[in-house]
Amino acid sequence: MVFCLIFIITYNVKFLRRTKIIATLGPSSSSEDIIRKLVIAGANVFRLNFSHGNLENHKQNAQYIRKVEQELNTNIAIMMDLQGPKLRIGVFEKGNVNLNVGSVFVLDQEQELGTTNRVTFPHPEIYSAITEGTELLLDDGKIKLLVKERNGKSIITEVINGGVLSNRKGVNIPNAILPIKALTAKDLKDIEAANDVDADWIAVSFVQTAKDIEYARSIVGNKFDIIAKIEKPSAVQNIDSILKVSDAIMVARGDLGVELPFESIPSIQKELIEKAKEHQRPVVVATQMLESMTNCHVPTRAEITDVACAVAEGADAVMLSAESASGNYPVEAVSTMAKIIQKTEDDELTFVGRLNQNIDAIQQSVYSAVTSAKIRTIASFTESGRCAISTSNTRAQANIIAFTPNVKTMRRLSLVWGVKPILIDEIFSFSQMVQLTQRHLCKNFKMEQGEKVAIVAGLPFRSSGITNLIHIYEIDTERAIES
Ligand code: PEP
Repeated sequence: MVFCLIFIITYNVKFLRRTKIIATLGPSSSSEDIIRKLVIAGANVFRLNFSHGNLENHKQNAQYIRKVEQELNTNIAIMMDLQGPKLRIGVFEKGNVNLNVGSVFVLDQEQELGTTNRVTFPHPEIYSAITEGTELLLDDGKIKLLVKERNGKSIITEVINGGVLSNRKGVNIPNAILPIKALTAKDLKDIEAANDVDADWIAVSFVQTAKDIEYARSIVGNKFDIIAKIEKPSAVQNIDSILKVSDAIMVARGDLGVELPFESIPSIQKELIEKAKEHQRPVVVATQMLESMTNCHVPTRAEITDVACAVAEGADAVMLSAESASGNYPVEAVSTMAKIIQKTEDDELTFVGRLNQNIDAIQQSVYSAVTSAKIRTIASFTESGRCAISTSNTRAQANIIAFTPNVKTMRRLSLVWGVKPILIDEIFSFSQMVQLTQRHLCKNFKMEQGEKVAIVAGLPFRSSGITNLIHIYEIDTERAIES
C-alpha cells in the first residue's frame, strides 16, 4: 500500500484551518457564554455525550449552540454520542473511594451507594460471562481488578492496580465475549431525542461488525449521518466492511487502549486513518489529546506532538473530551488545539492524498488542477455533501468552499477536513453557479482579479452523490460587483 507523509512545497497563500475541532460539552462548558467562547476559539463540532448528563442538559446545550451559530454566522455540527453497551459501576457515598492494592472489592447488584468495600455493577446480563480469573479494567484501565469468585449476584475481586475510583466509571472486560448488542435500550430511547437536540451526526459506541451499523441505520434512517466508534478489537478486524456502511469513523483511543494493548494504539490509529481515506470517509481521532489541560493551562510537549501527528496522518477532526467537558480550561484547550493544528498545517507537515483507484477522474482532475495550476480555491456544489467529502479526501492543498442548499449538509460538513460550508438558495443553471461562486469568493474570501477557482459539481442540480463536472474559472471582480 502506497502511503506517504511528505513536506509539501506550496505557494504563498493563506489557507483556512483545515483540520476540524470537536469539543465535548459537560459541566465546565454547558453555558451559552462558554459555548460562544469555544466557537470563537475554534470549535467546529460539539459532542453531546449521552453517557453523561440528562436529556434536558443536552437539549439546553443544543439550543445554545444553534443560537451562537446564528449569531456568529457560522456553521456548527452537533454530534450525539450514544453510550452504547458501556459497562459502568454505580455511584459512591462520597463520590469516590481509594482502592488499595491487595484489598477485596465487590461488585454487586445492590442499590446502596458504594463504599471502599463494594459498589453497584448494574449489568445482570453479563454476570454469567465472568468467571474466576477474569480481569476487570476500570476507568480506562487505570484500576485493575482480578475476579476471585462469582456467586449469584456478587463478583468478588482482588485489587491488582489501585487508586481513586469515582462515580460511574467505565468497566472493560477485554478477554470475555459479552452477550451485548451495540444499541442498548437506553440508546434506542436516546435516538428518539435526536431531533430534539438537532443532531447532525450520531456516534455509535462499541461497534463490533458492519451489522451493528446496519442495525443503527435501520433505526435512524438517512436523516442523521452515522459515525462508527472504533474501540473494540473486532471493529479493527472488520474495518473495511464497517467503513462501507458508515458515514465516518472515530478512533476512540480511550476504550481501544484498554481493549487492546495500549502500545498498539499508534499503529492502529495510522491504519484506521489510511483505511478511512481509502473508503473516502471522514475520520476523527479522539481521547486524551490534551488531557493535562483538564488541570493546567498549558499542554505537555507530548500532547502537542500527538495532536500534530493526528493532523499529519490525515485526520479530518481531532476531539477534546474531559478537556472541554469537565476540565478547568475548556476554552484554552480549544484555542491550544487550534494553534497546534494551524502551525502544523502552516509548516506543511501535511498528509497527501493518494490518487488510488477509488478516486474518480473528476477528483483526479481537481487534484492536478490544484497542484499543477496552483489553484487555491475549490468551489464544491453539493447536495448530500459527498462531492465535498471526496474532494476533501484528495487532500488537495486548497480551501474547499462547499455551497449547499441543504442546511443539514452544511452542518455535517463542519466535521470534514478543509471544507468551509456555505448555505445558498437553490440554483438551477450553470451560469447561476458561476455567478454565485464569483460573488461569494470576491466578497467573503477576498479573491482577486484573474485568480483561478476550480468549480466542482454534479449535474443535473439537486442530484445526490454525483460529481461529474469540473470547470476552471478566472475571477472577474468587475462582474462580481455587477451580479
Ligand atoms: C473513547 O473511548 O475514546 C471514546 C471517545 O468514547 P467515550 O468517551 O464515550 O468513552
